[in-house]
Amino acid sequence: MTTPLYPSIYQVDDELPVAEDFTVTSVKRKVGMGVKSVHAIPRGVRVAKFTGQLSSKVLQHTLQVSPDAHLHDPYFVGLLTHSCAPNCVLDMQRLEIWSLSDIKAGDLLTIDYAVTEDVLHRQFACGCGSSHCRRWITGRREGPNEIGVAYLEGLAAKKIKRLATMEKRRSSR
Ligand SMILES: [Zn+2]
Repeated sequence: MTTPLYPSIYQVDDELPVAEDFTVTSVKRKVGMGVKSVHAIPRGVRVAKFTGQLSSKVLQHTLQVSPDAHLHDPYFVGLLTHSCAPNCVLDMQRLEIWSLSDIKAGDLLTIDYAVTEDVLHRQFACGCGSSHCRRWITGRREGPNEIGVAYLEGLAAKKIKRLATMEKRRSSR
């Protein structure tokens, strides 16, 4: 017997994820919920199928299917964590998750939110740790909002200050 992650009204497909393979867990207070893989998963395979309810609105746990349609899934795929260097990618036509790199048992499944979303429900600061981290995450068809602009300017100002201090030290030697 396995324990489906989706409530029984969704159980039309026995390939949908089960609790024996994936753990829904809270990550950090700021990040919220996330999904960890119980088992190791090699790169380049189908990790899972997913489902949800179609909505015309962008909600907290929706993923964009087409310009006007969003899939609301607060049980599994809508809970995946963002990373600027993700280990998974979503196929929004087939409703499947595929692995982009080797995933160890206990790793969080991550996706790049900007890949599927034109406009995010909420833009946010990112500290994913990737060397390609964009620092402020938006949808693919929107620029940073007022808070994002201020946040990025703050980071830039800090960087300028740091470089200026380094320069000063160098020239005083
Ligand atoms: Zn990032």
